[in-house]
Amino acid sequence: MNHLYERVAYLKGLAEGLNVEENSKDGKLLMGIIETLEDFADGLVELSEDQDDLAEYVESLDEDLAEVEEELFECDEEDLEDEEDIDFVEVECPNCHEDVYVDEDLIYEDDVDIVCPRCHEHVDLVEEAYDIEDLDDIKE
Ligand SMILES: [Zn+2]
Repeated sequence: MNHLYERVAYLKGLAEGLNVEENSKDGKLLMGIIETLEDFADGLVELSEDQDDLAEYVESLDEDLAEVEEELFECDEEDLEDEEDIDFVEVECPNCHEDVYVDEDLIYEDDVDIVCPRCHEHVDLVEEAYDIEDLDDIKE
């Protein structure tokens, strides 16, 4: 952004070289324009510095997020190994249409209450599990 200051300085030099009378109407206009350009340069430099700070901050957030993702991904793998004997049935929540994965063994038990992890609505397994195609017909 320093080139902006160089350009403004160059214009100031030109104005001085032309012996612009600062109190004349033309001179006031010319000097006013140059001062305004200098203000713009200041504003842009400030914005550019803020932008750099922000970019740095986003980069550090991105690194942190990558670490979190790595941790989560590792957990997922461990969970999958632990649970590889369990068969899951995919059920769509009738309320928010989130896919809910339910241990297949639980479906055949009467007193199990499955709650959607997203909207916390009760998911009626027996009905939903076998009528997935007809979801739109089921009253909420
Ligand atoms: Zn839901």
